[in-house]
Amino acid sequence: MNSDIEKVLVSEKEIDKTIQRLGKELTKEYQDKNPLFVCVLRGAAMFMMDLVKSLDFKMEYDFMDVSSYGGENTVTTGDVRIIKDLDTSVRGRDVVIVEDIIDTGYTLDRLVELFESRHANSIKLVSFLDKPARRVKHVDVDYIGVQIPDEFVVGYGMDYDEHYRNLPYVGILKPDIYSTK
Ligand code: 5GP
Repeated sequence: MNSDIEKVLVSEKEIDKTIQRLGKELTKEYQDKNPLFVCVLRGAAMFMMDLVKSLDFKMEYDFMDVSSYGGENTVTTGDVRIIKDLDTSVRGRDVVIVEDIIDTGYTLDRLVELFESRHANSIKLVSFLDKPARRVKHVDVDYIGVQIPDEFVVGYGMDYDEHYRNLPYVGILKPDIYSTK
């Protein structure tokens, strides 16, 4: 599996440093607020589990699975479908949405709208990676781990065709991996 990687973009060491930095920033902000951290499955799961261990305050977490609508309009409308909803109510809660990567911005934009309509007290966004070159929807991401160039990445929870999520770093696949599929 490691031999399918052309280049490492974010090493394990850099991931660790990033988590520690974000953990400190969030710990300053969320003392005594008992926030609800919402993990967007499946890509953000690994990041979320590392992140919560770096937080020094009482908090709760829950998981949500969403996907873009299939079909021709996906790119233009950016509709997001809920595959698994939260088990926890967000009403009156300070919500922190945790994403693996913000690309076009549609997913986070729709989730913010959804939690606003469910009367969350506050909504903040944490994204491990940010690909600003691809943004279509403007979204204010409050906490960003690492900015990356416009490349398709895998590892640290992120997949290509459901594989490579278990790589402990973020990398770019060799071009022949796509062509042999
Ligand atoms: P957005 O709605 O911001 O366009 O997309 C966010 C979602 O698209 C991410 O949560 C992730 O699942 C997927 N995505 C975007 N870019 C990449 C990438 O480079 N690699 C992988 N594996 N998934 C990506």
